[in-house]
Amino acid sequence: MSDQNPTLFGKILRGEIPSDRVYEDEHCIAFRDIHPAAPTHLLVIPRKYIPTLNAIQEDDRFLIGHLVLVAGRIAAQSGIAEQGYRLVVNCNPHGGQTVYHLHLHVLGGRAMLWPPG
Ligand code: AMP
Repeated sequence: MSDQNPTLFGKILRGEIPSDRVYEDEHCIAFRDIHPAAPTHLLVIPRKYIPTLNAIQEDDRFLIGHLVLVAGRIAAQSGIAEQGYRLVVNCNPHGGQTVYHLHLHVLGGRAMLWPPG
């Protein structure tokens, strides 16, 4: 439950700190990243508190699929779907995770580099 979520994104879910929301439903919210790494940089987060990708359970199959579906929808709404975009989930320190509430980065509006840093 989000009320047991001590992370920054838990505070955003509870409305304790502001966010620029672009989408919300019963399972997730999406908002603009405060330090955009691309012209369009959105974050999709589940309302359920899941610290990392490693913590996903069998029961979360629908939820994870839903997050990916929403990421694609907000990419389309933002006008970046046709040119293309990148979905990123950082996991733990080597993955570059800094906020320990699962989130999908939706990055677009410019060509992405590969391999990532
Ligand atoms: P990660 O490094 O994958 O854990 O991603 C965390 C992301 O949260 C970073 O891209 C940050 O810029 C972003 N972020 C941190 N604080 C906020 C905030 N208050 N509102 C929106 N995005 C934030």
